[in-house]
Amino acid sequence: MPDTSPALSHASDLADFVAASPSSYHAAEEVARRLESAGFTRLDEAGAWPAQTGGRYVIVRDGAAIAWAVPSDATATTPVHVLGAHTDSPGFKLKPKPTTGAKGWLQAAVEVYGGPLLNSWLDRELRLAGRLALADGRVVLAATGPLLRLPQLAIHLDRGVNDGLALDKQTGTQPVWGLGEPESEDILAELAASAGVDAAEIRGFDAVVADAARGAVFGKDDAFFASGRLDDLASVHAGVVALIEAAGQTNSAVIPMLAAFDHEELGSESRSGAAGPILEDVLERVYASLGAGAEDLRRAYAASWCLSSDVGHSVHPNFQQRHDPVVQPMLGSGPILKINANQRYATDALGAAAWASWCESAGVSSQEFVSNNAVPCGSTIGPITATRLGIRTVDVGIPILSMHSARELAGVSDLYDLSRVARAFFAG
Ligand SMILES: [Zn+2]
Repeated sequence: MPDTSPALSHASDLADFVAASPSSYHAAEEVARRLESAGFTRLDEAGAWPAQTGGRYVIVRDGAAIAWAVPSDATATTPVHVLGAHTDSPGFKLKPKPTTGAKGWLQAAVEVYGGPLLNSWLDRELRLAGRLALADGRVVLAATGPLLRLPQLAIHLDRGVNDGLALDKQTGTQPVWGLGEPESEDILAELAASAGVDAAEIRGFDAVVADAARGAVFGKDDAFFASGRLDDLASVHAGVVALIEAAGQTNSAVIPMLAAFDHEELGSESRSGAAGPILEDVLERVYASLGAGAEDLRRAYAASWCLSSDVGHSVHPNFQQRHDPVVQPMLGSGPILKINANQRYATDALGAAAWASWCESAGVSSQEFVSNNAVPCGSTIGPITATRLGIRTVDVGIPILSMHSARELAGVSDLYDLSRVARAFFAG
């Protein structure tokens, strides 16, 4: 019997979102597609922008998307509430001359992208997805169906494998995608065909390998949701859902904005990453349209917030000693507030208080995350955004297991609750 609880519906919609987003380019496009069908207008960064008051807009820059809704009574000093997240996920990216192979197998030459759990990519059906720059100047998105696989060596040929699998990052990571001779085949032709173009037209490509399996709910009481790319499409999706709802509200004290950056897994330093100018570029144009001068812009920034949302670690029952001995967030017990003394997260006392108030108005309970001192803490776009713009920033997210696995594990209720807090954040 289909369950129609809001949290299960949210998870099912997230599964659709992830399936439509096998690469960061697809994710940015899916953000824009969903928002356009909800009444947002897509703007071209190279064109002139219309008056912003009362408008809802979205831009896509490479694998990043930024979207916002300007209240009809917005002024030059109306604060902005930015939900920050990222579109990219760890995995593999096609190398130049990507068609390779040996012993009658066709293989793909790939680089490691970010920090994937390499073993989790074994024995899964994988897609190839990304963008193609064509000879006629067009850029098209392309995504195959299940095409590739990284087959694990049988235990009979590697008797010590259960003592610890070590995959060589070069020789151990080249997936198979067919039978034949690499000299007479072209994996780019598969990608081109999926976009309805001829491989001979390709002048450049950015293509990643992505898990082909759809996200699924499972476990007692349907508590769990497993999917590829939850880091960080779960936050991007929550932001899209919340922004569509917030945009329906005509008068708001703040400008709600979703900033879905690319390249977080590499450190965010790119023209579409959080360390680049993209968010500042958009904010300056939005405020210029509202008549803001330098003084007004600084006043608006000083009253603004960035909610940086990314996944964090739930306590793992088999490895409890890896977590802080006291602060142990549980999957299913609500979104997390991320804290780190060394500013790996931007959260401070004021951020914690603001987060508590947004959670309270959403009716959502939250938990804290802090690392074990002996385990290095991860980081995300929060400290980068705070450093770049000086906007007060708080780092939050959802607790998951299997972070950077090809298929990560989240709690169904946490995913929905994150979207509800994002909605309260956008309300001001
Ligand atoms: Zn992340």
